Amino acid sequence: MQILVVGGAGYIGSHMAKWLVNDGHEVVVLDNLSTGHATAARYGRFVTGDLANRAGLESLFARHTFAAVMHFGAFSQVAESMADPARYYANNVANTLNLLEVMHAHDAPVLVFSSTAAVYGEPETVSLREDHPLRPINPYGRSKRMVEEILEDYGKAYGLRWAALRYFNAAGADPDGELGEQHDPETHLIPIILQVAAGKRSELALYGDDYDTPDGTCIRDYVHVLDLCAAHVRAMEHLLAGGVSRAWNLGNGSGFSVAEVLSVARSVTGKEIPARVMPRRPGDPARLVADSAAARQLLGWETQFAELETIIHHAWYWERRRR
Ligand code: UDP
Repeated sequence: MQILVVGGAGYIGSHMAKWLVNDGHEVVVLDNLSTGHATAARYGRFVTGDLANRAGLESLFARHTFAAVMHFGAFSQVAESMADPARYYANNVANTLNLLEVMHAHDAPVLVFSSTAAVYGEPETVSLREDHPLRPINPYGRSKRMVEEILEDYGKAYGLRWAALRYFNAAGADPDGELGEQHDPETHLIPIILQVAAGKRSELALYGDDYDTPDGTCIRDYVHVLDLCAAHVRAMEHLLAGGVSRAWNLGNGSGFSVAEVLSVARSVTGKEIPARVMPRRPGDPARLVADSAAARQLLGWETQFAELETIIHHAWYWERRRR
């Protein structure tokens, strides 16, 4: 099948492109390289382009018949979205509308969309199911919720078949060490911890140890990037088989505190990894853990790399290789 991977030079998209090519699909990667890396677009045919360029999209869709589109191309930094919401609504919402319009015009009705746990806002339950209220607390989360609403309307009116995959904390890296996380600036916990282990930073700033959790540090649900890719394939196959369009949570279902992540990283790397407790980071809920029962039961999704040790081990291998 011909599959378009928008944002395929980014962290999750690049792993997805590799997976699809290895599965025998004909992959086109579209990326504007605003946050992605040309070196990460190693699989499929790479086209540099921006979703804001409607004519460019038209011409791409005129040249291919995409059985499915996977859309990873968005900005994803909460703090940045609060400082510059316009940039987030323009890229994450308006540019996605361009893509949807062109998909509609070219009769490409299947979309697997990267959503986020940030659509939920402050959790009201211990683990989050898809029917938890959507009350995002920052423009990033709102931009993703808006797109989910648009997808629902496009589905009803134009027959778009869509899956919104609400990632919890994507982590880990390609076990071959070819691909991994490389954000600039890096804000995510595991890569920052590993940069300290690698001697690129002096210490981890641990944002808050006075949360209402057993050890006082925030709890998150870390899910391996390849498990996310597996879920995309399941969701795509589900839609191609005529399955229902909806949102799916993707997480491991078990939460780890920042202190636990740090301790596992120290044991995986054998490095000391100094950490200093700092004030809380604005907008961080104490606990975000997925209930992914729907994806497991209805999509048949199984996580292959659920162990935090494995996730950190793969991320560490990537961190050392890219040095
Ligand atoms: N965190 C931290 N220091 C850092 C980066 C993150 O203590 O340098 C904490 C952060 O406060 C949160 C957890 O690690 O509790 C995960 O943060 P990350 O940015 O990786 O993902 P988020 O859950 O915000 O999407």
